[in-house]
Amino acid sequence: MNARVTKLVDETDAEIDVQLPTRVERAYTAWQSVRYNWGFLAIHLAVLAAFFVGVSWPALITCLGLYWLRVLFITGFYHRYFSHRTFETSRVFQACMAVLGTTSIQKGPLWWAGHHRYHHRHSDTPEDVHSPLRGGFWWAHVGWLLAYNRNDTRWQEVKDLARFRELRVLDRVYILITFAFAGLIAVLGIWMERAFPATGVTWLQVFVWGFFVGTVLLWHTTYLINSGAHIWGSRRFSTDDTSRNNFFLALITLGEGWHNNHHRYPGSERNGFLWWEIDVTHYFLTALSWTGLIWDLRRPPAHVYEEGASSSQ
Ligand SMILES: [Zn+2]
Ligand SMILES: [Zn+2]
Repeated sequence: MNARVTKLVDETDAEIDVQLPTRVERAYTAWQSVRYNWGFLAIHLAVLAAFFVGVSWPALITCLGLYWLRVLFITGFYHRYFSHRTFETSRVFQACMAVLGTTSIQKGPLWWAGHHRYHHRHSDTPEDVHSPLRGGFWWAHVGWLLAYNRNDTRWQEVKDLARFRELRVLDRVYILITFAFAGLIAVLGIWMERAFPATGVTWLQVFVWGFFVGTVLLWHTTYLINSGAHIWGSRRFSTDDTSRNNFFLALITLGEGWHNNHHRYPGSERNGFLWWEIDVTHYFLTALSWTGLIWDLRRPPAHVYEEGASSSQ
């Protein structure tokens, strides 16, 4: 390179350095985030369609019914079974639970369990990717999901589950279940439109409310456990993290709001330890055990109850 070119390169480099402010870099990062999370963002935007299609009783019942059902699938199956193995089941019903869990559109069972187990092992330390101590409420709630490419399954954490081929396959093709689930809701909508014409219901209304509105509600309910249940509420147990017990969160998450109890003894099938700690997932799993589909539901040992009683006084 001759002196002139060297000078030009030096000047250009210097110029580029000056012309690449963090604002541009930040805009690029935001763009990458949008590019990576377009499906997530599109489902949020699609909620606005509810204003155009209107509402009717069948649409509202479908939305709430599927919402509650899917909260149970996440809490009872993805969380209390796949993440913590708090009861036993057969291989066939295990596969059924995995498929039902994927209807919540929170990736596959191994991905979910892997990340959740990691959260328990590193709660509120720098290793805990969704700790509110790291970036406040919004970071713990949804920022961590948007900011990082979290597509990779933490295989180290889920060796016990990864031996089942059907779970490994489901972890890769979970998106197909999402489409099948969306299709089922559309079919349900077509049936409702014919069965209840007096209500003014249309298939599109059922689809928008049942799929888009219900899914966004479900997502944010789940996220509240990572954010709200580590910020608001009381602490019965002095665990090494910021987990809280919160009655309101326990109601809307069907029992997961007893998060301080849960961090103290994650191996328990019930998170509400006392009779008044409403835990609908526990009632659901207990009812399921009567059918024989699941068994050996594990409860907190006596010493945990004693510890809780003494620290509450
Ligand atoms: Zn937690
Ligand atoms: Zn947990």
